[in-house]
Amino acid sequence: MKYVIIGASASGINAAKTLRNLDLTSDITVISKDVNVYSRCMLHHLISGERNLDRLSFVEKDFFEKNNVNWLKGLDVKDLNTATKTLVLSDGQTISYDKLLIASGASASIPPIKNLREATNVHPLRNIEDAISIKESCKPQDNVVIIGAGLVGIDAAVGLIEKKVNIHLVEMADRILPLQLDKKAAVKYEKLLKDNNVTLHLSSSAKEVVLNEKGEATGLIINDNELIPCSTIVVAAGVRPNIDFLKNSNINCDRGILIDEFCRTNIEDIYAAGDVTALSPIWPVAVRQGKTAASNMAGKEISCKDNFAFLNSMNFLGLQAASIGIANAPDDSYDINTLETKNVYKKIIHKDGVIYGALLVGDLSYCGVLTYLIKNKIDVSHIKKNLFDLNFADFYGTKENGEYTYAI
Ligand SMILES: Cc1cc2nc3c(=O)[nH]c(=O)nc-3n(C[C@H](O)[C@H](O)[C@H](O)COP(=O)(O)OP(=O)(O)OC[C@H]3O[C@@H](n4cnc5c(N)ncnc54)[C@H](O)[C@@H]3O)c2cc1C
Repeated sequence: MKYVIIGASASGINAAKTLRNLDLTSDITVISKDVNVYSRCMLHHLISGERNLDRLSFVEKDFFEKNNVNWLKGLDVKDLNTATKTLVLSDGQTISYDKLLIASGASASIPPIKNLREATNVHPLRNIEDAISIKESCKPQDNVVIIGAGLVGIDAAVGLIEKKVNIHLVEMADRILPLQLDKKAAVKYEKLLKDNNVTLHLSSSAKEVVLNEKGEATGLIINDNELIPCSTIVVAAGVRPNIDFLKNSNINCDRGILIDEFCRTNIEDIYAAGDVTALSPIWPVAVRQGKTAASNMAGKEISCKDNFAFLNSMNFLGLQAASIGIANAPDDSYDINTLETKNVYKKIIHKDGVIYGALLVGDLSYCGVLTYLIKNKIDVSHIKKNLFDLNFADFYGTKENGEYTYAI
């Protein structure tokens, strides 16, 4: 059996490891554009200078040798022929497979803002090369604009704070991290960013990049003609799945590759996992799908139904937060309990005894139990205590014969 995996990141690496555990003898080949294995979630540490490339790796140095995995690195898959079961690579070689996993992830998307794609000093933040270019092009006191204040934009800001640059963060929503936080929670992080010399431009949209004669961006126009002068722009405005090389194949794609709960595509012996499926572009889901796909490829059937970005935890500028389930109530029929002190903000969104979402900022106590209750839609209406103090002990009792009973 010859297994081929496209991609050497969260999904592909975990798939290779799972395959080798289940199948000690078959051929496993990983093909990737990446020439290093590293965690994209830690790229901001490279920008700040806190870590070097070695310390971004999430595998041991001899991972490929130890697991007897052949790694073709620095190569692009250009074409897939599902009839002949072959791949064409950027160096012209053809690779055959018996079973294929596509774990090619996603790329940063550059929005169609005037001159943004043309400017020579605009950097996305997706790959190690992007982080290195950002690090090298930003000098102390430079003005740097970051477009987008989601998790990647905040990562970029946090990395750049250490470089002592003047950061301008432009976000269309009325708050940073709009998908993860509500306004009150966001304000806590916004204050920390402002304290660290970050200027926030909220409810603002980027309109046009001003170019000099060399084609470099010298400023960004936002809203109605407000100019932010800058020498570098970082774009953190979402991702698009890497599916271009599938254009001659008959693999069904929507935004990303369509898969079933076993991570199978519509073509026999071809599986897909991770950001390339566009189901939930976060690390834990990519890992889970990679392991699921590999297990099924090796003949051990398992399913992965939970592709929801259910729990987001973050730790920026020393403030921890967790956002579980929904961060904002969809309508007025939901009840909201909040708890606020100087350093802590907590919110629970519930309806008819079921908790649908929670935000914990500054204190993550009971995060585990809340995650369990929300994920499993456990009825908590019979428990007469403060929802913020629920713990697993509230859900078990003791029978007369001393036996434990669990209500969850
Ligand atoms: C700055 C940043 C911060 C993040 N922070 C978090 C976080 O805090 N929490 C979280 O959960 N997630 C975070 N993420 C998202 C997380 O990194 C991704 O969900 C995860 O990396 C997805 O893994 P993947 O294996 O699906 O794909 P990717 O990591 O995108 O890897 C794709 C692999 O495929 C290879 N490849 C692509 N196209 C081809 C081709 N044609 N031929 C050959 N090889 C190819 C690439 O070289 C790469 O090896 C962050 C991402 C970024 C960029």
